[in-house]
Amino acid sequence: MSRLAAHSRCLMRIRLGSLAALSVPRQAFASCTSSSDSSLSAQTAFSTSVLALAQSKLAAQAGRAAASSSVVANRWQNDVIMVRYLIAFLFIVQGAAAQTVTQDEVMGGSAKLYREQIADLRSGFRLDDDERFGARVAALARPLIEQAKREYPESAAWDWELHTTTDGDANAYAMAGGKMLVSRAYVDQLALTDAELAMLLAHEIMHAVLRHNLKEFGEALRLEPERAKQPFQEFEHDIDNDNALMRKLASFNQRQEMEADREGLMFAVRGGWRPQALAGYFRKLAKHSHYPNFERFDHPSPASRWQAARELAAQLEAGR
Ligand SMILES: [Zn+2]
Repeated sequence: MSRLAAHSRCLMRIRLGSLAALSVPRQAFASCTSSSDSSLSAQTAFSTSVLALAQSKLAAQAGRAAASSSVVANRWQNDVIMVRYLIAFLFIVQGAAAQTVTQDEVMGGSAKLYREQIADLRSGFRLDDDERFGARVAALARPLIEQAKREYPESAAWDWELHTTTDGDANAYAMAGGKMLVSRAYVDQLALTDAELAMLLAHEIMHAVLRHNLKEFGEALRLEPERAKQPFQEFEHDIDNDNALMRKLASFNQRQEMEADREGLMFAVRGGWRPQALAGYFRKLAKHSHYPNFERFDHPSPASRWQAARELAAQLEAGR
């Protein structure tokens, strides 16, 4: 997902503003990078203009009412009552707009799920069970996490965690708030070099610092606004388990994957890695895939990721 595309999508939502749009929860706009606050002020501005319009109409009617019969004066009184209802409605709607998913909720949920998975791995003696591999991943991840804290100041306050496992079922992920897991089985299978492993880590770090989890909740609320009333834990469960919702979110998630690829590659280049060496990760991904030209449920096809990374790396190499 390009930031520009996400931003224009949000602008479109604001332009299409109507009374119904005011009831869309604040988080529905969260797919715009750093524009959820401006969306809220757009709501406020819109409400204010609706009120101003209603009040000016009433003022005009008041003038006419003063000069005409008592029947018209009664109508004017009715209109005053209606405007009071309208004001009350707008305040209720604006209050409800804040009662949606927050980054703190998403990070709290991720921390809980992460603790559960870590406990499972520990009980099976599969947590940090290869010291050499753990040290290699940590040595590559540490400077990238420090760079993330500098470039994305919000993440400096996070309790970043990184664990490794030899469990063959895991590959690599980063949850909201910088909770990461990397599997040796996955890294061995692709025979990743240090640069390629740095690319994988940078991709995962981007998911966290670009608030991809929170934005996914925002998109789910945009698609199904009634979920604003759902308790957070149920909503969180559905995001990962409700097939109908997951199907609806698949293309959004694919755009987030492409964003994590592109932003991650540029991030690792800023960290001192060579673009071509980083892009090697995507070449191996495509090479080891049985169906390189097919999209997986929520991931773009490995061949398209490799092509995008190859083109970006060539541009960055040319600019060096
Ligand atoms: Zn990803």
